[in-house]
Amino acid sequence: MCGIVAYIGYREACPIIIKGLKRLEYRGYDSAGVALLNGSLNVYKKKGKVTELEDFIKDKNVHSTIGIGHTRWATHGEPNDVNAHPHYSSSKGLAIIHNGIIENYASLKTDLQMRGHKFLSETDSEVFIHFIEDIQKHNQCSLEEAVRLALTKVVGAYAIVIISKENPGQLIAARKGSPLVIGIGKGEYYVASDATPIIEYTDEVVYLNDHEIAVISRSNLAIKNIEDVPMTPYIQKLDMELDSIEKSGYDHFMLKEIMEQPKSITDCMRGRVISQKAHLNLGGIQQYANKLVNAERIIIVACGTSWHAGLVAEYLFEDLARIPVEVEYASEFRYRNPVIKEGDVVIAISQSGETADTLAAIELAKSKGAIIFGVCNVVGSSIARASHEGAYLHAGPEIGVASTKAFTAQVTVLAIMATIVGHRKGNITESKYRELLVDLENIPGKVEKALQLNDKIKEIGNIFKDARNFLYLGRGYNFPVALEGALKLKEISYIHAEGYPAAEMKHGPIALIDEQMPVVFIATKDNSYEKIISNIQEVRARKGRVIAVVTEGEELITKMAEFVIEVPSTNEVLMPLISVIPLQLLSYHIAVMRGCNVDQPRNLAKSVTVE
Ligand code: GLU
Repeated sequence: MCGIVAYIGYREACPIIIKGLKRLEYRGYDSAGVALLNGSLNVYKKKGKVTELEDFIKDKNVHSTIGIGHTRWATHGEPNDVNAHPHYSSSKGLAIIHNGIIENYASLKTDLQMRGHKFLSETDSEVFIHFIEDIQKHNQCSLEEAVRLALTKVVGAYAIVIISKENPGQLIAARKGSPLVIGIGKGEYYVASDATPIIEYTDEVVYLNDHEIAVISRSNLAIKNIEDVPMTPYIQKLDMELDSIEKSGYDHFMLKEIMEQPKSITDCMRGRVISQKAHLNLGGIQQYANKLVNAERIIIVACGTSWHAGLVAEYLFEDLARIPVEVEYASEFRYRNPVIKEGDVVIAISQSGETADTLAAIELAKSKGAIIFGVCNVVGSSIARASHEGAYLHAGPEIGVASTKAFTAQVTVLAIMATIVGHRKGNITESKYRELLVDLENIPGKVEKALQLNDKIKEIGNIFKDARNFLYLGRGYNFPVALEGALKLKEISYIHAEGYPAAEMKHGPIALIDEQMPVVFIATKDNSYEKIISNIQEVRARKGRVIAVVTEGEELITKMAEFVIEVPSTNEVLMPLISVIPLQLLSYHIAVMRGCNVDQPRNLAKSVTVE
């Protein structure tokens, strides 16, 4: 996590950095800071959001055309002014911003302390910059060389940018495991954790690769790898609209992203689903398509909301393609001793494409000979690059920390994948295949209709906004939706919520039910419809307050539930794309009514680049 921005050029650096940090706040907002060179090297940092920093520097002399900035998601040391980045070196001649974790920082720190280094903060990042300065002093080498040598010794993940008093016309950046992109202007360069701080200045960027070091001056960008071998920068064109990273009139990014799902799902299907021509295709899956079709089993690795999309995919692949699927939390998978055979197929799902655990899980699977398919939103991200093949979501930047449109786009891509495989394997009849294509194409219109329930859902939210607990229950395809609904509520409203398979309720959670307990049933017309009706009765018998998401025209459940939310019907296998919409809206409204910071919930950050 953590957001990094740096600038070198002819413009005022500070406003560019502050604006960029605000865009990166989704990555962390524990503290923010800048270091600016103007004869002296000055660091200004403050606990809290970027606006606190802005207030703090209002009366300071921040004129400079070179600087670095950071918005933190604390890993080592509590969020406070001292632990905020940037961190000075011992002599205060260097300052660093760091995203990631230096795992061997404790031993490095002890060593440095024995040699007289004094540390102000509890962070691993401060140790890193002291270590670099120490190496430079002892080897009498250039800063660039000292950085390189230091990187050969540190263990862990990092994206760093260093600014130096001795080299006032230079920034040094490096990465391993955490993203870093360099924007190329005329006589100026930008460095950031993602492209959002850069897009209004330039559309030419270089994504730094792992183990690369960039030495950036106003007139030149030189990249080499950690072995000291010069690398040729690969310049790419940015494909991002400024509008896509702004709120465009909405109160929150989350609401904007919920509301734009008809468009993001359409974008996700563009060119991939054409029912009239019976065309279904994922351009990113070609060379290894047969591996997927002939897979004996599929392992899906993901975290958080992406893991829920993975669960939907389990149902999809088993239903449509008759391939057994295991859905794994990446963090557990990587530290077990998983059984992976040569040629096994792994699907990695991650909105940011930078999720540290998912990335490590696929590296592990790759080392054992698995074929990796990445399902990511961010183009050029680490997981996309580490995968053999895959498919982008094309959902546009997702800024709200609670994922919404990425989930529906992930499910869309996975549904396309499962349908292609099922069709190629002959498990889906031609007519069912064509029917599914039409159903897919109709999804955006139905999501649009589900979004029209916004006012009604807001009213329901108002009734339950003070609840202390929530239960979400679903069966079949709607079970992962129940998990996702509960997660959304927890994340942004801080109400404790649990998602459960509805039938499992009687093995435990039913004990929680009393007249205070709101229970959200996702009870659309599908194979388990009759069964879930019994579960609703069980909750009613214990005076639980039933809110049911049902299919339009529903009669039976309408008589039983205290509140019903009617969504359009679709093919059962695509239902999560529709049934999740009211749950996103419900959590959004409850969080707003409780006065919570919807886009930046406490303790959370998007793009979890630490394990
Ligand atoms: N480890 C650093 C700190 O705690 C950076 C954290 C991060 O990248 O999330 O300050």
